[in-house]
Order: sequence, then structure tokens, then C-alpha cells
Amino acid sequence: MPQALIDAIRDVQDFPKPGIIFKDITPILGDHALLQRSIDLLVEKASDHQIDKVVAIDARGFIFGAPVALALGAGFTPVRKKGKLPWKTYEEAYSLEYGENIVEIHQDAIKPGDKVLLVDDLLATGGTAAAAVKLLEKLGADIVSVSFLIELSFLNGRGKINHPKINSIITY
Ligand code: AMP
Repeated sequence: MPQALIDAIRDVQDFPKPGIIFKDITPILGDHALLQRSIDLLVEKASDHQIDKVVAIDARGFIFGAPVALALGAGFTPVRKKGKLPWKTYEEAYSLEYGENIVEIHQDAIKPGDKVLLVDDLLATGGTAAAAVKLLEKLGADIVSVSFLIELSFLNGRGKINHPKINSIITY
């Protein structure tokens, strides 16, 4: 695993709720070399495939999703929290490590058969990514893989995501 990235991640105890250890990635984002490395590693994981769209999840997923899309020669599609997207949407409710939420995607964001890479910063219980996968399935996307910078493997999030190809750069 990329030690420089691991060393930069800051554990914040009891944020945003007691009992949660929040993985703060802002020290990675603030360092050009570490930010570049994290993008390069995410791109590498998908470089064997022709990707049409990188889909990323509100909000930290966007930070990685757009540069990964540019590097792969793909477009970018946001999955957003309810109420943020202006056009016709599909929505999916889910529960996450510290709360409940609804995510949405524009109904015309993906064409049936589009090859999609789904990206988020962190896989915890898997509820968020599972909801995004359901939205993409509804749109007929061909999900090539699901990639995370960080995976909290002890929460078994992989088991909740209905997809055979899940990649993470850093696993705890
Ligand atoms: P989950 O749906 O439980 O897999 O939660 C994943 C989403 O919540 C990701 O978009 C993360 O940004 C955020 N998240 C959940 N747990 C943590 C954590 N311990 N540290 C940082 N972010 C987290």
C-alpha cells in the first residue's frame, strides 16, 4: 500500500458522532504530490478498460472523480444528495455509518450500456456505494468497477455492494 498516503491520513476521534473514527483526507488533498499520487493510483486501477463515464458520490468523491475522468478520457457524472440536482432524477435511500440519506442521479446522465467507473473517497458500511450502484443499474450502466481511495474492511461494506469488481487503494 502507498505508505506516504497512509501516513498523511489523519484519524479524528468521535467525528461527526461519538464512536466514529473519521479518516481525514485533507492532508492528502493539500499536498500536490500526494493528491497526484492518489489520482494516479485510482486511474491505474481502471486503465485496462475503456470508460465512458466516471460517476462519483457527493461530496468527497467529486474531488477524485473529475480528475480521474479527465485522465481516463471519460465524462463525469455526479451522484448527489437529495435536492441538489436540477433536472429529472432517480433517487435511492440508504443508511450510512453515521446517519441516513437519499442520493439522486439525473435520469439522462448515463446511456444504457455506457461503461462506468464508480468512485468514492471511502468505503465504510457500503450503503452509499450500494445506493449509487442501484441508481446506475436503473439507468442500464455497464459498471466496470467500483473504486475507493480508502476501505474500512472491518465494516464489511463490500458485502453490501452488488458488484464483483471492487478496488481500494488503502485498506484498514
Ligand atoms: P458508507 O455508506 O457507510 O460506506 O459511508 C461512506 C461515505 O461516508 C463516504 O462517502 C465517506 O465519505 C463517508 N464516511 C463514512 N465513514 C467515514 C469515516 N470513518 N471517515 C471518513 N468518511 C467516512
